[in-house]
Amino acid sequence: SKRVYLFNEGRKEDKALLGGKGANLAEMSNIGLPVPPGFIISTATCLQYFDSEPNLPSGLVEEYMTAIKIIEAQTGKEFGNPENPLLFSVRSGAAISMPGMLDTVLSLGMNDEVAAALARKSGNPRWVYDTYRRFLQMFSNVVLGMKMEVFDDLLVAYKASKEYRSDTDMQATDWEEMVRRYKEVTTVPADPHEQLQLAIRAVFSSWMTPRAIKYRQYNDIPETLGTGVTVQSMVFGNMGEDSGTGVAFTRNPSTGENVHFGEYLQNACGEDVVAGIRTPEDLTGLKAQNPQLYEELLRVFDLLEKHYRDMQDIEFTVEKGKLYVLQCRSGKRTAKAAVTMAVEMVEEGLISKEEALLRIDAKQMDFFLHPTIDPSAAKTVVAKGLPASPGVGTGVLCFTSDEAEVLAKEGQDVLLVRKETTAEDVHGMKSAKGVLTQHGGMTSHAAVVARGMGAPCVSGCHEIEVDNAKETLTLLRSGRVLHKGDTLTIDGSTGEVMEGKVALIRSTSDADFQKVLDWADELRRLRVKANADTPDDARKARELGAEGIGLSRTEHMFFGPARIDVVREMILANDKAERLKSLEKLFVFQKEDMREIFSVMSGFPVTFRLLDPPLHEFLPSEPKDIAALAGRIGKDATLVANKIKALEEVNPMLGLRGCRLGLAFPEISEMQVRAVIHAALEAKAQGYDPRPEIMIPLVSVAKELEVASALVHATAGQVLEEKKAVLEYKVGTMLELPRACLNARSLAPMMEFASFGTNDLTQSTFGFSRDDIGGFLPRYLEEKILEKDPFATIDVEGVGQLMRVAVEGVRGAEGGDDKALGVCGEQGGDPKSVQFCEELGLNSVSCSPFRVPIARLAAAQAAI
Ligand code: ADP
Ligand code: MG
Ligand code: MG
Repeated sequence: SKRVYLFNEGRKEDKALLGGKGANLAEMSNIGLPVPPGFIISTATCLQYFDSEPNLPSGLVEEYMTAIKIIEAQTGKEFGNPENPLLFSVRSGAAISMPGMLDTVLSLGMNDEVAAALARKSGNPRWVYDTYRRFLQMFSNVVLGMKMEVFDDLLVAYKASKEYRSDTDMQATDWEEMVRRYKEVTTVPADPHEQLQLAIRAVFSSWMTPRAIKYRQYNDIPETLGTGVTVQSMVFGNMGEDSGTGVAFTRNPSTGENVHFGEYLQNACGEDVVAGIRTPEDLTGLKAQNPQLYEELLRVFDLLEKHYRDMQDIEFTVEKGKLYVLQCRSGKRTAKAAVTMAVEMVEEGLISKEEALLRIDAKQMDFFLHPTIDPSAAKTVVAKGLPASPGVGTGVLCFTSDEAEVLAKEGQDVLLVRKETTAEDVHGMKSAKGVLTQHGGMTSHAAVVARGMGAPCVSGCHEIEVDNAKETLTLLRSGRVLHKGDTLTIDGSTGEVMEGKVALIRSTSDADFQKVLDWADELRRLRVKANADTPDDARKARELGAEGIGLSRTEHMFFGPARIDVVREMILANDKAERLKSLEKLFVFQKEDMREIFSVMSGFPVTFRLLDPPLHEFLPSEPKDIAALAGRIGKDATLVANKIKALEEVNPMLGLRGCRLGLAFPEISEMQVRAVIHAALEAKAQGYDPRPEIMIPLVSVAKELEVASALVHATAGQVLEEKKAVLEYKVGTMLELPRACLNARSLAPMMEFASFGTNDLTQSTFGFSRDDIGGFLPRYLEEKILEKDPFATIDVEGVGQLMRVAVEGVRGAEGGDDKALGVCGEQGGDPKSVQFCEELGLNSVSCSPFRVPIARLAAAQAAI
């Protein structure tokens, strides 16, 4: 089947076949943009290559030679003919963008003869030999695996010997001399056809380099995609002052503002910008130099944005005043920019609300919930760089990525400081709280990768001098030298570098963010509730848009200095009479908290779960604490110690807890139910609209639920009768044990609602103790025994299967469609899990207050 595609044979939809870069080059060329002609070898050929390695798959050369003939006809040049040479760039590109991971060779087809002829014909030998030496270095690096430094060092030594300050001092004869010197240390073949074959093989091989493999692992990119190879005729940005190269975003990728944002380097090649060696200027310089070309560039921005209906990231080159577009793709953007652009594009009529929501990465929304620098806080700015990736990061200085990873694993907050970052720094960047680089622009490796990760980054910070060998950072403003272990704070939204730690605040009120959430609310089906245990949590949850409380863990109201001893007194009571006395005191606390929660959540359901954890969790374990407690509650220390000992369990999570507790000590459940009903009646008397729900935890057999729910109804009924009041309330259960899920149909008659407790359900389905996974789960994830942490994302195949059975059971029972089903484990705020809940047709998800906005967006995305 066909392996080689000319640009006019591809479309933007062909990403899987041609790679993103190739597909977009084809598209741009077909919509009439100035793209140098070329062809693409398909991604599938890359996988074929791993069977024929080191040879190219048979017949491939013949196939691409046909394409080259056509390009020769289009350009009027000839590949390998010194009199009229066609030079190529050989570029990689997978279906999913992997910035900086796979390498490009430029000006392929160069050799001594070609260079001599070109120099003669162009009258620009400086350009020719500069190009030639770049080619030798790139080819040696990418194809022959030599180190770039070998060549950099030769150049530095040569410039020093001539007392040249910069590359611009180098004349034609100097570059010619460099070519001679480079050729002494490398073995680049002279034959262009051999060069091309080797380069194509190298691009294919680069798919399997350790750094590419690592990047794919970190970003969940399948290995079977393969990379395409684009072979494209060259244009040159280094032909003089009327030439240059640049990158641009059609909108600001940091703030989302609808203003293009670009960087341009005069008389330079593309790699100079990306590598962050020279810090480029913005586009105003270009506008001044060549207003007409600048206008044309703006037209290209506009056309591409309308065509792709999204913000584009564009690479372009100007050769002797003529513009060429070399790449476009949907630009990476910060969370803030993603949201702002989505809102503005809907308002501009470019995209629909649905599309806008689908484009936003729900996980990235964390950003809006994260703290920023408190404007009223004291701070000392010691340097300023470029605001490359927003967010605030504080940490101890660390100068290598390996060490950053180690220190982070030890629990330290580190700030990774580098002259500039490369693909080898990805693990360090991932471990660090922030990244600070001395060199590089807004599109340098550090900036692009940090934005993708959501890590704060300040790049191009020329007010610092980094010494990698000495592991020091010099603050040029003051001359002060900082060392490994000193603390700095960076603000990736302003570019500021500050001394020590700086006070932070949270801001969740971004207007665009709120608009996106409003749209999400219009489009979602799932109700989003919060897990909230206290009135404060409940208020936060309401602010963040929770429509009720899906789980209030009543035992959390037992903590606090005035309360915990009462709880202990209750647990340590000698008999029921004594226990009732303590319970009466607890009733007061509990009822008051519940009343306040009802008032905050007026009109929304609030689910109170009866006491769940093993009693032992409330008790001290240290002898001196036990003695102190005994003193405070007026009991004998030895007796108290013995009682505590008696309550100890080998496997508390599988012991006396959940509904088992309520069955053993019905008076505890009675008190809690009374508190709920009294609280609701009081809230109602104050004019609120309480919607109480009482949930019975850790049920596995129907009889448990029968007894427990009967107790709830009896108690509630009694209170209502005493008070001569009417109140609607619901009784439900948790589905958090496999047996309950399997027999959900038999539980259904005793419940008006149920909530999957996916934490316990995961724990009991896998047989993993949630508190002990640290011993094996990291390895499981690393070795891919498990793809995902099942406590973070619902395990669809196992836990999800049980949930499916339970949903069918409940829905199949009499009146089953009216029984609300939800999830209240940690996974309730995880976008993938929310998607699964939508598929199951659940009624709600409940998650911690700060994840509520993420869940609202994820629920809308799942429903679209
Ligand atoms: P990356 O994926 O690292 O961005 P590219 O394939 O885009 O790699 O190539 C790197 C640089 O090489 C680009 O920034 C571009 O400026 C330059 N380049 C690629 N192809 C050509 C070409 N045909 N003519 C001139 N420059 C090119
Ligand atoms: Mg590259
Ligand atoms: Mg590129």
